[in-house]
Amino acid sequence: MPEISKNKEVGAICPECKIGRLVIKTGRYGNFTACSNFPNCKYIVKEERAKPVDTGEICDSCNVGHMLIRDGKFGKFKACSNYPRCKNTKKITADRKSPA
Ligand SMILES: [Zn+2]
Ligand SMILES: [Zn+2]
Repeated sequence: MPEISKNKEVGAICPECKIGRLVIKTGRYGNFTACSNFPNCKYIVKEERAKPVDTGEICDSCNVGHMLIRDGKFGKFKACSNYPRCKNTKKITADRKSPA
């Protein structure tokens, strides 16, 4: 397969216009699939899974993994990148009060 540096083709025809091809584009909020026929066709598929954000914080449990920000049922939380080996998680407190 030839590598296309600009937009990666998914190899599927756009279900919306049936003319364009679906390509993976990199946007501000991560990768998304869009129609190559843009702007004539505005078909877009957002990635369901958001990439976890690396906080750069070293896990204080295993001292190996980094703490990543993940989306959970009850909001965002930090989890160790060494999961499932390390199950360290931390709540993200949006409050101003600093932990003592
Ligand atoms: Zn299209
Ligand atoms: Zn860890």
